[in-house]
Amino acid sequence: MSLFDKFSHLAAARAGLGAEGTPPVATPIEDIISAAEGVIDGKRVILAGTNNYLGLTLDPDVVDSAKKALEHFGTGTTGSRMANGSYNAHGALEQEISAAFGWPSAMVFSTGYQANLASIATLAGKDDYLLLDSDSHASIYDGAKLGNAQTVIFRHNDPGNLDRRLSRLGADASRALIVVEGLYSMLGDQPPLAEFIEVKKRHNAWLLLDEAHSFGVFGDKGLGLAEQAGVLDDIDFVVGTFSKSLGGIGGFCTSPHAQLELLRLAARPYIFTASPSPAVIASTRTALSKVIAGTDLRTRLWDNINRLYRALETYGYRLGSDKPGPVAAIILPDRESALAHWRGLLSNGIYTNLMVPPATPKGLNLLRISLSAAHTPEHIDRIIQAFGQLRKAA
Ligand code: PMP
Repeated sequence: MSLFDKFSHLAAARAGLGAEGTPPVATPIEDIISAAEGVIDGKRVILAGTNNYLGLTLDPDVVDSAKKALEHFGTGTTGSRMANGSYNAHGALEQEISAAFGWPSAMVFSTGYQANLASIATLAGKDDYLLLDSDSHASIYDGAKLGNAQTVIFRHNDPGNLDRRLSRLGADASRALIVVEGLYSMLGDQPPLAEFIEVKKRHNAWLLLDEAHSFGVFGDKGLGLAEQAGVLDDIDFVVGTFSKSLGGIGGFCTSPHAQLELLRLAARPYIFTASPSPAVIASTRTALSKVIAGTDLRTRLWDNINRLYRALETYGYRLGSDKPGPVAAIILPDRESALAHWRGLLSNGIYTNLMVPPATPKGLNLLRISLSAAHTPEHIDRIIQAFGQLRKAA
């Protein structure tokens, strides 16, 4: 017996993806040419699997603000927010986030993963309930594990199922925190938000919306699905990440409830870890201002989204979402065809994401594409042509 025996099924799944050629998981990106192009295996490729939705990672102003902060404040804060790692800029970013939502409070975390761990594990305590969508991201499930609340899973995107589960709690539903995502990262599908809100209100429950993949993408100011749907007033907590549209690393939770501030005294993933580095905070502040003002970026992103979705539908692919969005997930019948698609696209100079069980919902084999405002119409044409060739060869 060995401590490592329990990983044998994971090793077998990895081996099933083949040992030859460019690795389809944890693919090394050798160089970055722009927000939309890089080098893999010595070849120039279009990056169509990076979550860099607005292409801000190499925006000159964003990079410049990180450089200035790096040179002035140094490489790290060397401390947690509650001890010795709270700089003025952390507070300023929190104010800028809460001001964007028009809410009294926001907290910044070192990653989006920690934003979910902290918010979920701390808000829902021993006598409370967590109602999680079955397709929730690992950070949401891990937040439930870290905390002491009773966790109830409801069927993915099914407000009726949530309603029945909340009904069983009776008056205790007022101590239930429902968690849904603004855009599910594997299939690219969106929740029926208005219906979830109707259920939440009827049961007097609370709603946390994870806008990791929808922030920057939806809404006039890019605040996410709730802004686009005009329902921000009905949300209790929005969690987001800096690692996608904002092009950095870190996360936030913001709320119309000023008592969110109490989490600073209790949330272990906030208290017991180093705060984000000054350069990351500075780049995120500049990126945030560009997201809020970024109607032109969103117009470019949505033009790209709509063109690619239309083409994939014309080719007859089965997609993870019937509503176009920044993630296009192509559902393939098995692991082999998903892998063949991934390799076929890469050999045509297109980098995408291969997603297979256990990382995917419902055991699906997926080819996942993420679109960016940094993609030019020519990039999108090349992606469409590469799919056309794969279709012909099939
Ligand atoms: N929530 C969701 C829905 C995510 O997809 C992710 C990351 N992919 C996170 C939270 C965690 O964010 P980060 O990677 O910035 O830690």
